[in-house]
Amino acid sequence: MKVVETITEMREARRQLTEPVGFVPTMGYFHEGHLSLIRRARADNPSVVVSIFVNPTQFGPHEDFDTYPRDPERDLALLEKERADIVFMPSVAQMYPPGFNSWVEVSKLTERLEGASRPGHFRGVATVVTKLFNIVQPNVAYFGQKDAQQAIVIRKMVADLNMNLEIVILPTVREPDGLATSSRNAYLNAEERQAATVLYRALSLAQKLWAQGEKDAEHIRQEMKALIQKEPLATIDYVSIADPQTLEEQDQIKPPALASLAVKIGKTRLIDNMVLE
Ligand code: AMP
Repeated sequence: MKVVETITEMREARRQLTEPVGFVPTMGYFHEGHLSLIRRARADNPSVVVSIFVNPTQFGPHEDFDTYPRDPERDLALLEKERADIVFMPSVAQMYPPGFNSWVEVSKLTERLEGASRPGHFRGVATVVTKLFNIVQPNVAYFGQKDAQQAIVIRKMVADLNMNLEIVILPTVREPDGLATSSRNAYLNAEERQAATVLYRALSLAQKLWAQGEKDAEHIRQEMKALIQKEPLATIDYVSIADPQTLEEQDQIKPPALASLAVKIGKTRLIDNMVLE
């Protein structure tokens, strides 16, 4: 396994790889969700590149860029075990040298949900993912359904800008009690960790109501909100049942519909989603 920190070294290492090259972009602090993507990349490709980069441009000014959990030594040991070929760990200065001034903007889709709550977030994501694709030149890149809107935005960007690679989206990995694995779960104390199951419980309720024949999306959103409001540590940011292509809220559910939510547990903002088929 080669660990490279500069763009020049990454390009040089890329030239030695056998195609297809599978790529997993991450912000590190690995959990089973990351590992599921890396394992799939390993199973599908002769070459696997993983990047670890906490991207400052996707964090808002009052968000957790400085405190985002980091543990590169543990991450590298896990990558060694998963037999990654190359780990790309650039510095912020490598990715954003002084005078950096070009941005990738995906419109419409990014105005909703996470984009509405986190202005500029998807501009940062689209820009860094484009840069990483240009540097690593993968044949296929793997993303998690956990960040459903991110997956939708990246697919749209790749299609609109004719990027020459395949995008694979893999299912959300969960803890035994349903909580989606996330690096940010590390922020939760024991009481908050217990309360955090409310996201999965609300999504499961939506799934149950839908399975029982409820088609009124607003009714399901209200039931989800009522359930979350019973949890004293939880504050709702949004609860959505939307068209997975356009992210427009649905009135009558037309499957597949994307049920998604963002909830603060104490100071920690968590997101999750389920598709109503
Ligand atoms: P991050 O390091 O949080 O930027 O995540 C890197 C990749 O892992 C993204 O494509 C995420 O969607 C994906 N991911 C994060 N959490 C999970 C999870 N619980 N299940 C599946 N994929 C995940």
